[in-house]
Formats: sequence, structure tokens, C-alpha cells
Amino acid sequence: MPPSPYVSRINQIDAVQLDEEIYKVLRNQAREIGKYQPIEKIDRWQPEIDALLKYLVWNFSLRRGKSTFGQQLLDLHYENITGPKSVLYAIFTIGPAYVRDKLANATGANPNFTAVLDHVADLAKLLEFLNLLIFLHRGTQPRVVEYLLGIASSSSTVHKPRNIGYSYMTRELLWHSLMELFTTGLPMLNLHYFKHALKKLFARARRVRFQRSFPLMDSTTRCAYCGDTPILPMHAGCRHIFCYYCLNAHFTATNEFQCTECDARLAVHDMKTYQAKDS
Ligand SMILES: [Zn+2]
Ligand SMILES: [Zn+2]
Repeated sequence: MPPSPYVSRINQIDAVQLDEEIYKVLRNQAREIGKYQPIEKIDRWQPEIDALLKYLVWNFSLRRGKSTFGQQLLDLHYENITGPKSVLYAIFTIGPAYVRDKLANATGANPNFTAVLDHVADLAKLLEFLNLLIFLHRGTQPRVVEYLLGIASSSSTVHKPRNIGYSYMTRELLWHSLMELFTTGLPMLNLHYFKHALKKLFARARRVRFQRSFPLMDSTTRCAYCGDTPILPMHAGCRHIFCYYCLNAHFTATNEFQCTECDARLAVHDMKTYQAKDS
């Protein structure tokens, strides 16, 4: 069966957009690699890096087949592209941007020259815009380079005018809801309680008898929960001292708290600020 000649405009624009996005992803990754290098070193080589990335994209897509990566995702290809046309395509997509970046980067460029450069860039943008208008009217060749080379997208499949894979979107949605579940759900779990319950399950032998006694604090005293010097020292019945936050955070969740050191069950109404006894 011959491929259907009609390709919707939205598919062609999407293919262009996807190509740009793929390039941007690669470019960002390349930037990540050079993140810790001196900035002027990277900037000096940026045009070359961009050109190399574009070349690689072209090499693995158009040179080996008849479609760019964006077109592949949407089941499109260039019907009448030949070897020389493919090479010209690469030159037209890589060359102008490279020359522009290189000239813009050149230090000591005189203002007249940069003005000319800006005019050329504006002209290119105007051409692109005109081409877009023509494309909207005619329905083929959304890129200037396609117009110059006389190539146009055609569909690789029949009876499938627009084929969108939802698997990526579904995966993205699942991932986001999972992240949301973790960020909202995890802080609500009383991890201390679970840790203690597990500890009790496995270490039944070690059982220290709880004596109600008054805590004594000196410079070596540590919070029984977080192991740091207690901030706003509190106690609640056993001889251990806690930070105000460590203890109160538990009492806001449950009325009872098991001391991590001596397993005493501490109650919220026993919670008191630590005050050194007068000697
Ligand atoms: Zn603490
Ligand atoms: Zn204790």
C-alpha cells in the first residue's frame, strides 16, 4: 500500500517542535557536563559544541534514514530526500547558527558589524515567518530549509493521520502522583513509633526497669531522641532530657511517647521544662 500523501499541518509543526526539544535536551546535558569548568572556557567553545551536537543529531537521523527524530516519533519521513540533499540540509541547519555564534563571540567586533549581523538575523526571522504563513496556506514545508531543498514530509503509515503515544504521558502522570503521595504522606507517618514497635518486637530481652526520678543535666547531657545538646530542655517523667521540639512534636501526634532510652511511657501532662535544682 502506498503511504497516504496527506500529512496534517499539526503533525508537521509538532515534528519541528520535537526536533528542537530533542536538541535542547542534548544541549542542556552538554552544559551540565561543563558546569564546573570556568565559564569563559565553555563560552569560547559553545558554538563548536552546538554545531557538534547538531551534527550528531543529523548523523544518527537524516544521514542514516529519511527522517529526523521528530518525524520518526510522528511516523513521518522525507519522501524525495537524496544523499546530497541530506548533506545540504545539515549545512543549512548547522552553518548559519554556527557563523552567527562565532561572530557574536568574537571579541572586539566593531558596532557597525554587529548591526549588520542583527539585520541579517532579523531578515532570517522574517523569512521564517513568511514561510510559516505560506505553510499554513499550502500545508507543506514548515521549515525554510525544506522549501530551499524542495523536500516535504509525507506519512509513513496509512489510515493513521495522527498517532500519539500516550505511554510517556501516563508514565509521567504516575510518577508525579507517586511523588505527591510521598511528599504529602511521608511526613504524616510517625516513624519513631514504627521504629520503636519494631525494636520492641526483636529485642524483647533487653528490658530496663523504669524508675521515676528527676533528671540531672550537665554539659555532657544529650537529648535522648536526637542525640544533640538539648535545645529548651524538657522532661516528662523519666530521667532523660529531650529538646522541646523533639518531645512536643510527638505529643502533638499522640498523647503518649515511649522514651527511646529507658522505654518509659511518657504522658503529655507530665511534660515539664527542665530547671536545675538549687543546691
Ligand atoms: Zn532533641
Ligand atoms: Zn527515659
